[in-house]
Amino acid sequence: MTSQEIRQSFLDFFASKGHKIVPSAPMVIKDDPTLMFTNAGMNQFKNIILGNDPIKYSRVADSQKCLRVSGKHNDLEEVGHDTYHHTMFEMLGNWSFGDYFKKEAIEWAWEYLTEVLKLDKDRLYVTVFEGYAPEGLERDDEAAAIWAQFLPEHRIINGNKKDNFWEMGDTGPCGPCSEIHIDIRDNDERAKIDGLTLVNGSHPQVIEIWNNVFMQYNRKADGSLEGLPAKVIDTGMGFERLCMAMQGVQSNYDTDVFTPIIAEIGRVCGAEYGKDEKVDIAMRVIADHIRTIAFSITDGQLPSNAKAGYVIRRILRRAVRYGYTFLGQRHAFMYKLITVLSENMGKAYPELLSQKTLIEKVIKEEEESFLRTLETGIKLLDKVMADSKAAAKTEIEGKVAFTLYDTFGFPLDLTELILRENNFTVNIDEFNSEMQKQKERARNAAATETGDWVTVREGDSEFVGYDFNEADTEILRYRKVK
Ligand code: ATP
Ligand code: MG
Ligand code: MG
Ligand code: MG
Repeated sequence: MTSQEIRQSFLDFFASKGHKIVPSAPMVIKDDPTLMFTNAGMNQFKNIILGNDPIKYSRVADSQKCLRVSGKHNDLEEVGHDTYHHTMFEMLGNWSFGDYFKKEAIEWAWEYLTEVLKLDKDRLYVTVFEGYAPEGLERDDEAAAIWAQFLPEHRIINGNKKDNFWEMGDTGPCGPCSEIHIDIRDNDERAKIDGLTLVNGSHPQVIEIWNNVFMQYNRKADGSLEGLPAKVIDTGMGFERLCMAMQGVQSNYDTDVFTPIIAEIGRVCGAEYGKDEKVDIAMRVIADHIRTIAFSITDGQLPSNAKAGYVIRRILRRAVRYGYTFLGQRHAFMYKLITVLSENMGKAYPELLSQKTLIEKVIKEEEESFLRTLETGIKLLDKVMADSKAAAKTEIEGKVAFTLYDTFGFPLDLTELILRENNFTVNIDEFNSEMQKQKERARNAAATETGDWVTVREGDSEFVGYDFNEADTEILRYRKVK
């Protein structure tokens, strides 16, 4: 099945079970001060789940464009390095607002995967909430019993609160969840190690595909739980991962969602996929990020200097840097990928076709302006290297690397790469200490996002840490002061 057919089959299946098929909400959120980007299918139903909005349809399903690059869900560091986390991805979901509950949700999930898609039952595992004694929460035996109709007991695995209990925030609807994992390793590998032991690990071929959340409690302001009068089913399945399982490939990037883009990157950049891991990572990063940037522009969020626009700008720059460093791209190239992207995804998302010229123009301008900055940084580095050479030094001060990072957006690895090519090294300790100083300065800044959505504002929040690994992922995290 093509990805297009897989997406459609999901929607058709849930339509046949009485669900109203709704469009994806925009990926960029404009009217919620607590959340910049849609990070799960359920975001658009927040007010229905909270009881603020009336229930228009008690059963809905959709494919939602999601972005996980900030706040509670930040997968940016994984992207390109692994083969199944994206920045932007589609989440297939079905919901029940006070209508059906665990029985139907589980039975239909199983029916869809094994009867409609005919995925191999022996490769599926499910997790159920194991309970949490401090809060008097028991194991979700109810879900386990429903699963037991379909799977042997040993493939129904207990999961802890972190993986198998979903909460909206400090208060509000919450409940256990049950996740479906698939083992797509070949038979030899499966014979060596049981997939059971790899579930929720980091094996790239034993992965979570579908989360089924059973919201049955409400967490009150004092932290205690009460039963929720109108229970909610909220599910989310990673579309690209499902395509990987269905198309018999070992990486999301080998599905037809990505192969045309990877091929076009190869053509445009003169690179070959599958020969050199560093080149492969760069190609995956670019293939991933071009989607994020294009979809964010069609949703009205252009790269800019502030908030959501800045996140998008940094994602674009990240892709340009990978192209620059590993694919030797010295001129704008990302915008050239839009033709293939819009041909490939324009059927499901026609805005990619109707706004193609705008997307290309915005990306090209951003690329050119960033490349000018990169060139200026490189000139600075050239001068420092020449001066050091004259002084017979081979180590560059950490401060220089930090200035390049801070002012010109050079991550340390790019600086190191250029230095190495010229037989120089850099003082990493000095670089780290400059970085530390900057983090301290940043503590005074403000951020507004920590959860699926969040109840914190500047002033009533306390700083708890950073999601900070490289130049483009510096996001401050705050939590509400109780
Ligand atoms: P993981 O443990 O793999 O990071 P998750 O538990 O964070 O996934 P959920 O919040 O349960 O993910 O989201 C529902 C589904 O969305 C997941 O089961 C997975 O298939 C998919 N998904 C989650 N994050 C990503 C991502 N970054 N890229 C692609 N698919 C994703
Ligand atoms: Mg995750
Ligand atoms: Mg998970
Ligand atoms: Mg999950």
